[in-house]
Amino acid sequence: MRTTLLVAAAIALLGIVAGCATQKETKTAEPVKVETAQAEAKPQPLRQYLDTPTGRWLVHDTNRPAPPIITPGDTCGAAPSDAVVLFDGTEDSMKANWTDTNGNPAKWVFRDGSMESVAKAGYIQSRQQFGSCQLHVEFATPSTVKGSSQGRGNSGVFLQGQYEVQVLDSYENKTYPDGQCGALYGRAVPLVNASRKPGEWQSYDIIYHRPIFDKDGNVTRKATFTIFHNGVLIQDHVVLEGGTGWINAHAVTDYKAHGDKGPIQFQDHGNPVRFRNVWLRELKD
Ligand code: MG
Repeated sequence: MRTTLLVAAAIALLGIVAGCATQKETKTAEPVKVETAQAEAKPQPLRQYLDTPTGRWLVHDTNRPAPPIITPGDTCGAAPSDAVVLFDGTEDSMKANWTDTNGNPAKWVFRDGSMESVAKAGYIQSRQQFGSCQLHVEFATPSTVKGSSQGRGNSGVFLQGQYEVQVLDSYENKTYPDGQCGALYGRAVPLVNASRKPGEWQSYDIIYHRPIFDKDGNVTRKATFTIFHNGVLIQDHVVLEGGTGWINAHAVTDYKAHGDKGPIQFQDHGNPVRFRNVWLRELKD
């Protein structure tokens, strides 16, 4: 009996020691696993590009096709060699490239190398249609200040005939910020107010990626806008969450499915706003 107890105690002791040993092994094993996982997760240096349509290119691969060479315009804002010029400051260019929204001759006036909005003449739009693009536009609100808030120098640049980048005389003119010059109307306030004085020429450089819709009309990729106003970044890769159409004082439209391409439109909002030097470069999706 006494021998049996001694053997049992010895086995128990061995078990405890063994258990401790096992626990100890487990405890020491865990950090090793973590270290291994961390080593695996450590970013590896980039060895090759996998996203080219023609196959794989090594980093610094001199066989990789180089980007096409283009000639930039002589002055800032001048059209580069690969641009589609939509208005070059001539009446011929206006007639060739712009119509009203029904495809009839535009009722805006050609004046001093610019296209000027006429009250009640309606929007004008490009004959040619575009999707994602880089768009350069120059505009001037009236030098004679009339009206206030949204009634002063109001026009707009519409991408695909859908989404409005607001044009407004926002020089010392208080209005709701998501409707001031450079706003994505009702959707995004510009980062700064880079407006020039009334009557002075200003520029927009817009990088637009169109939205994509599925066959049921649901938006599967929302539009994005990057905008420079007079060379100043005012919209920084902003995702457009919906449409920009006015519904009421505190509501704008949602997305509504449309085609892959649409016209560039300029708004008639009753104020004689002028446009010049309009050119565009199409972008791939
Ligand atoms: Mg407007």
